[in-house]
Amino acid sequence: MALVLVVGAGFSGSVAARELADAGHRVVVAERRGHVGGNAYDERDQAGVLVHRYGPHIFHTNAARVWEYLSQFTAWRPYEHRVLASVDGQLLPLPINRTTINRLYGWQLTEAGVARHLRRVAVPRAELRTSEDVVLSRVGPDLAERFFRGYTRKQWSRDLSELGPGVAGRIPVRTTEEDRYFTDRWQAMPANGYAALFHRLLNHPRIELRLGTEGLVAPERGQAAAVVYTGPLDAYFDYRLGRLPYRSIRFAHEHLPGVAQLQPVATINYPGPEPFTRVTEFKHLTGQVHPGTSIVREYPTDVGDPYYPVPSPASNHLANQYRALAAREHGVVFLGRLAQYRYLNMDQAVAAALQASDRLRADLGARGGCASPDAPAGSTATTDPASPRPRRPSPG
Ligand code: FAD
Ligand code: UDP
Repeated sequence: MALVLVVGAGFSGSVAARELADAGHRVVVAERRGHVGGNAYDERDQAGVLVHRYGPHIFHTNAARVWEYLSQFTAWRPYEHRVLASVDGQLLPLPINRTTINRLYGWQLTEAGVARHLRRVAVPRAELRTSEDVVLSRVGPDLAERFFRGYTRKQWSRDLSELGPGVAGRIPVRTTEEDRYFTDRWQAMPANGYAALFHRLLNHPRIELRLGTEGLVAPERGQAAAVVYTGPLDAYFDYRLGRLPYRSIRFAHEHLPGVAQLQPVATINYPGPEPFTRVTEFKHLTGQVHPGTSIVREYPTDVGDPYYPVPSPASNHLANQYRALAAREHGVVFLGRLAQYRYLNMDQAVAAALQASDRLRADLGARGGCASPDAPAGSTATTDPASPRPRRPSPG
């Protein structure tokens, strides 16, 4: 049995902690916030409505392993997310689909007609290097301006042309009337909320949870056979190569007493001049019955908790330099949206945590569960930061 220190109790850290505890290791989880769940944390507001403190989190996945794994810790409420965009005084389906185009332009195109229209207006791009390339090549300039340029500018404080293709590439374009935001095989919300899911995940006799605790200075750091670090990549190295850009959000929560339902769908996006990007009404997600309703408006900002790694060429270059340092950090697994500096959905974070735990378990098993200064990096040496390498003896 080894001692493992897990820094952070979001999906990445909590899944890794549980997997290692189930494998017989003793795990200390150090979480700097006063609660588990990372950014997926939910809680009741003062009016008793279940809200997501760090913005709406909708679970969706095509990964059977992730779905089955989490289903051990929660029952689910079936939920399919729908989003409307507020454009020129209308609420139109997003992702852009046949209904969006017909309502926006007052047309009655068939599916084939929409496909023809998109082919006509699309701006061909030989190479899709930026989000602008992706959007222009899919929907052309008019739809790009109305739905994407302003929203992206607010969300990232950068132009579409300054962001990698994966950012706006997350949003498909459809010629059908499909209006679900996601089309994954499994789409649901934890029946009793995310916090309850996390409490079950971390409820294990070999897991010791320390809330309000800085992980990098925890006394176990020197004694642990391995560290699973899920905080920001640059913070781990004390920002020695400079700061990686992260985008933050100010979440303005509000309860509206006596308003049973404010908007027709859970989320309305605002690509226009409003200072916020979207408004989410939580009761749509949870199915909660309450005489009032609770919403959150998202105001993107550069100050505050790091939420979104910024995928630009400059930040990727710096992140790669940090990743090279991470690959040389013996016995430390860098895991999650912040430590991998990657835009990961919850299911991707869980999948990565399960895979990293498989490797770490094998590695600790091969070393007899103890820190071994001489253990060869052999089985696990790789440039993937989520891969563990044997831990060097601690100077302390
Ligand atoms: P986090 O949840 O960020 O957890 C990291 C934890 O580590 C935090 O609790 C932090 O306090 C702690 N920590 C950091 N440094 C230290 C330290 N030094 N010591 C101790 N503790 C530390 N995904 C979806 O699938 N669907 C969605 O609808 C969705 N919506 C989102 C909306 C927003 C606004 C945001 C920001 C993200 C959204 N995501 C969504 C992504 C989702 O939040 C992430 O996939 C998930 O949180 C990743 O989990 P994580 O454990 O890697 O990181
Ligand atoms: N986006 C946009 N307009 C929208 C919704 C999204 O331009 O109405 C772009 C924007 O750049 C955003 C990206 O597409 O950051 C991904 O959107 P998603 O809804 O997946 O963002 P998340 O939920 O992760 O914030």
